[in-house]
Amino acid sequence: MNLMSEPERHQTLTTWVRGVPIGGGHPIVVQSMTDTDTADAEQTAFQIARLARAGSELVRLTVNNEAAAAAIPEIRRRLEDMGLDVPLVGDFHYNGHLLLTRFPAAAEQLDKYRINPGNVGSRRYHDQNFLAIVEVAKAFDKPVRIGVNWGSLDQQLLTTLMDENANREEPFSAEDVTIEAMLQSALLSAELAVSHGLPEDKIVISAKVSAPRELWRVYRQLAVRCKLPLHLGLTEAGMGVKGAVSSTAGLSVLLAEGIGDTIRVSLTPDPGGPREKEVEIAQEILQALGLRSFTPSVTACPGCGRTSSSLFQEMARDIQTYLKTKMTEWRETYPGVENLKVAVMGCIVNGPGESKHADIGISLPGTGEDPKAPVFQDGKLVATLQGSAIAAEFNQMLEDYVAARFSRSS
Ligand code: SF4
Repeated sequence: MNLMSEPERHQTLTTWVRGVPIGGGHPIVVQSMTDTDTADAEQTAFQIARLARAGSELVRLTVNNEAAAAAIPEIRRRLEDMGLDVPLVGDFHYNGHLLLTRFPAAAEQLDKYRINPGNVGSRRYHDQNFLAIVEVAKAFDKPVRIGVNWGSLDQQLLTTLMDENANREEPFSAEDVTIEAMLQSALLSAELAVSHGLPEDKIVISAKVSAPRELWRVYRQLAVRCKLPLHLGLTEAGMGVKGAVSSTAGLSVLLAEGIGDTIRVSLTPDPGGPREKEVEIAQEILQALGLRSFTPSVTACPGCGRTSSSLFQEMARDIQTYLKTKMTEWRETYPGVENLKVAVMGCIVNGPGESKHADIGISLPGTGEDPKAPVFQDGKLVATLQGSAIAAEFNQMLEDYVAARFSRSS
């Protein structure tokens, strides 16, 4: 692999989920998951709406009991009342076969079912329960995600592989065998579903672990061993900076290798913190890798001893916030504006150069410099600002630039 060249995407089938294509070379889809009690239709619909408006293109919600299954039609109705058509993925463990057959309205209103082969029942009930869900998926023409998880791996399969390994002359490590068990659990389940009539292009696969290095091993193997679309994510990324960094490390390496068709950042929110953070980080990962654009990017230097004032930090922050706030309106009015590149730099060292590379950029005066701020548009110096209104004047120039460049009539 040459990181200097564009990654070649892992070739997969396309699975359609309520009009959203996953795989087949389509743009990588961002998804998220609610943490409300699904039985509380009002709160759940409200959180789904927030996630969807933040840019989540699929939203998964747990369907863990009868009250949750019964609430699905009302959740859908509430979303429709809000004008939202976001695909909903039902997350099933242990009793999915029962809930999906007893609550056909839920089965119909959900757009995809997530099945964890490690949690569909043991021994003879395993295949029977798994296939009951497959039958519902066939009946309602829905796709499924076969989602294996390191923490809830099919114990029977794992034991079988461990026993076989123990009899080898040179046994593999326990980690190797566990990874093989994850792969086999996902791939054999997919084969079982297909052999019972679920079309291949109705299946997405995931095999999540909680550490980046293992994630790379698992997904590189999946990419070699199947052509089904792959859902990427660390299963428990953690909180705050640690969660964001672990997810970025885990996902970016694979995405740079062309592996992954849909992603979720499984971030533990701060108590009372916004659930949408996981959507924002997923978007930032894809945008940083140049795989998708969601919002204009602001290049800002980190600042150093050459900047004695916090003006440039405040400007970088304010412009970033301003751009995000405006995006809802701009998406409609100014198609392509998500590709805009803005630079806000702290001094003459890298300021003019970086500003010239952006669509519009400003180089603020560092300590001891002439108190002037050159502004560049499309690589050319267009103005030199000075005085106390630099920030306001630059914002106006930014607004004018966007209107001139991205309005539908231009
Ligand atoms: S552009 Fe200037 S202020 Fe910003 S980090 Fe570089 S040297 Fe420091």
